[in-house]
Amino acid sequence: MRILIVEDEKSMAELLRQGLTEEGHCAEVARSGPDGTTLAATSRYDVIVLDVMLPGFSGCELARRLRRRGDQTPILMLTARDADADVVAGLDAGADDYLTKPFSFEVLLARVRAVARRGPVAHGVVLRVGDLALDSSTRAVHRGGERLTLTRTEFGLLEFLMRRTGTIATRSMLIDGVWGPGREIEGNTLDAFVHLLRQKIDRPGQTPLIHTIRGVGYCVREEPFA
Ligand code: CA
Repeated sequence: MRILIVEDEKSMAELLRQGLTEEGHCAEVARSGPDGTTLAATSRYDVIVLDVMLPGFSGCELARRLRRRGDQTPILMLTARDADADVVAGLDAGADDYLTKPFSFEVLLARVRAVARRGPVAHGVVLRVGDLALDSSTRAVHRGGERLTLTRTEFGLLEFLMRRTGTIATRSMLIDGVWGPGREIEGNTLDAFVHLLRQKIDRPGQTPLIHTIRGVGYCVREEPFA
């Protein structure tokens, strides 16, 4: 993969560049907000690893600028420990995931793979299956015109499934995609969340849209499974 690292801390940038190169990726480094923006505009990357605190302007501002010009490259944000405000600002600016410093290189690799697998996300797109609509920018979910209130995890699950409408999401794909790779999530927990989600999405008398593929995973589609 082609990976852009935007990090002003020299030793950290070099560690990331070297590690990612050893893993077979092609990694380039930018050391400021403006430099990162320029590189992202002139070259195509599969993933951008973006530090929040940068000279010029912040990683959040960089993410916002990319998204504003329609660049949907997956972004993994690096934030300082306990900086919850950074996390919220980063995700709000258009980052796809975040990692808190200090982190292990293994975890970074797993997260890079996960955001790359999700691919360029069309922010602000409305996903539709039958009379179910999910707006990824406003996080509004409607079924048959009725607004549904989902928790953060329920929304994450539904969005993950609706981005793959008609295809089966395996249990491990769902756990990695919604909770993040390497998180300790029991299979029962996944089932419990899907059960809660289903109670809100598929009410009695409505066409069931969330299907269970026994032993494999889940799928959202309008047509029933035989
Ligand atoms: Ca920094």
